[in-house]
Amino acid sequence: MSSQQEYILVTGGAGYIGSHTVVELVNSGQNVVIVDSLVNSSYDAVARVEFLTQTAIPFFDIDIRDSEKLSEVFKQYKIKGVVHFASLKAVGESTQIPLSYYDNNVNGTISLLNVMKENKVKSIVFSSSATVYGDVTRFGDNSMIPIPENCPSDPTNPYGRSKFMIESILKDIHSSDESNWKVAILRYFNPIGAHPSGLIGEDPLGTPNNLLPYLAQVAIGRREKLSIFGNDYASHDGTPIRDYIHVVDLAKGHIAALGYLAKNTGGLYREWNLGTGKGSTVFDVYHAFSKAVGKELPYEVVARRAGDVLDLTANPARANKELEWKAELSIEQACADLWKWTVQNPTGFKVEGYEWKKFEKVGLENRLHSFTNGPLTIALANRGALIQDLSFNGEHLVNAFDNGEDYKLPTNPYFGTNIGRVANRIANAEFQLNGKTYHLPKNENQNSLHGGSLGFDKVNWLGPIVRKKEGVFTVEFLIVEKDGTNGYPGDLKTIIKYTIDSSSVQLEYEAELINDKVDATIVNLTNHSYFNLSGEPTTDDTDVTLFYDQYMKVDDVSLLPTGDIVKFEGVTVGQPIHLDKDAFFDYCYIVDKDATQIDTRGNELKPVLQATHPRTTTKFVFSTTEPSFQFYTGDGVNTKGFTKRSGFCVEPARFVNAIHFDKWASQVILKKGEKWGGITKYSFS
Ligand code: NAD
Repeated sequence: MSSQQEYILVTGGAGYIGSHTVVELVNSGQNVVIVDSLVNSSYDAVARVEFLTQTAIPFFDIDIRDSEKLSEVFKQYKIKGVVHFASLKAVGESTQIPLSYYDNNVNGTISLLNVMKENKVKSIVFSSSATVYGDVTRFGDNSMIPIPENCPSDPTNPYGRSKFMIESILKDIHSSDESNWKVAILRYFNPIGAHPSGLIGEDPLGTPNNLLPYLAQVAIGRREKLSIFGNDYASHDGTPIRDYIHVVDLAKGHIAALGYLAKNTGGLYREWNLGTGKGSTVFDVYHAFSKAVGKELPYEVVARRAGDVLDLTANPARANKELEWKAELSIEQACADLWKWTVQNPTGFKVEGYEWKKFEKVGLENRLHSFTNGPLTIALANRGALIQDLSFNGEHLVNAFDNGEDYKLPTNPYFGTNIGRVANRIANAEFQLNGKTYHLPKNENQNSLHGGSLGFDKVNWLGPIVRKKEGVFTVEFLIVEKDGTNGYPGDLKTIIKYTIDSSSVQLEYEAELINDKVDATIVNLTNHSYFNLSGEPTTDDTDVTLFYDQYMKVDDVSLLPTGDIVKFEGVTVGQPIHLDKDAFFDYCYIVDKDATQIDTRGNELKPVLQATHPRTTTKFVFSTTEPSFQFYTGDGVNTKGFTKRSGFCVEPARFVNAIHFDKWASQVILKKGEKWGGITKYSFS
């Protein structure tokens, strides 16, 4: 992060509307920093926004009432404006605990404004609500429907009054320094739907207060039926009329408001309604959602609810004209998007059998994610998208550090991590592609090893996206390595997808160039876990069976391939090798000597190596679609808590140094428009 760059601070950016707005902000080229106390949201939403936008977003788990901590964020980042979502928002709850609402919403905003003022940030977009208008049918003659911004405010509950109070405070602060404060009040009508990607959406805690989240839970089987409160209103079908706005349209309204503030040279205070201007009844929405689901959902009509009124539709003409913004998405689209989000995430951001915790002293960028599926447990960290634990029947099978800091030790021998952009060695740390020579940093004698000093193992991957379907977890991490990093050409997007059932873990890699900076780059990905079945600090007495006995002959001094593929003396296919102190291995064995493919995922998943140990009945089989695998007995390990032979590695990948051999180079040259792919599976029985 650069102190020179300017940022938009988003309070409440982990929440429903905030997370969708952050996506639009990042997509419109803004740098964003998020502050959220997570009182009504989860960091998973932020992790998914990062995945979706392929961008790391600084996040601070701070209550905006803590002005000291908030100030530190303003010192660390050059904030040019604030979008202020942070608020408690449940109308019913606000009548039960009004003081908490006034304290959180009103005092929170005062704290924020003080910090902004101290730091000379005087531009704010505020999330207000149609609730400030109160019951507009009080005007009797329908003169205020659709509702214009000049409709007098008369909120009917503490939540609405907290919004009205904040609007008044913002108006006063603007009046106190009219030429500098720029204040946009956005009065939302009824936000609905979810991001079309299915990655983020509304995840209400407890019983949903709103129509569509409730209906979604009925559709997915979490609730029995929808209650419709009264069907004797004077609408076309007897149910009340509201102005439902797709959350993505609403999010875009904030970009428009920020743009308006930016181009206004003086100060200003102005309110805008964000609605569609088109009212829909409860039954209209019910039918649209039932259509998206493909079946009529159960409901019952019950008595009217106290406080409900016939019609609350916006007049959005002011926003349409001045902000040049208009809601474009239909309620049908919102229903389809909500259903996609619900089907893909039936329990919201929470997934049964999955939990995460902090893995480093500071921040949430590197978290430890644990998954339990019957006898199998796996823990994955963002750094390197690495495997920190892999246990079967309670036996830990990989070498690992117990905290994120130790993974940064210079002696860390790549424990559990994924390796890229190019695994293994590149001779002389240089290569030629399309007539151009690329120089890489040398990090092993004259060579480049495992992607260089800033390789995929040193970086916090974005995500993960965690899903569970029919008892199987999928966990996806993403990294975008920028053109020139470690000397490699092109912006490369890489996803690793772990698929975890009760007896296996599958790793699927997919990488592609994402823009037109270059026509090609080179890629070779693998995982560098150290396995140990012995329950002891050494792998001695492990029986390892290789299913291939051809290997890449290497020069004894440089450890680089000579180009010859020959039989490895000492390995007989299918015959176990008993690992003892003399059994040294660090060689690349060949599964397919004629391999040329860049994407091997269509190949058969072939068993390449099997390991057992007399102490345990667990049998461990490694399978892959890749044309070769490095088998390494871990003789170079010497790090905190571990010495040589504490674990062995099986690293399926492309041929070592392939780019330097014409006959193998196509295995690693990834062209624009193609995908690099490979699958490896660890199976236990
Ligand atoms: P949300 O609860 O999903 O998001 C609000 C976020 O603010 C949450 O992530 C919460 O953890 C955070 N937060 C609350 N108090 C905080 C504090 N003191 N410090 C830091 N973070 C804090 O709600 P939403 O639906 O996304 O609403 C966003 C804003 O829009 C709110 O101001 C809400 O009042 C307003 N609004 C919402 C609706 C609606 O129907 N969803 C309608 C009109 C207005």
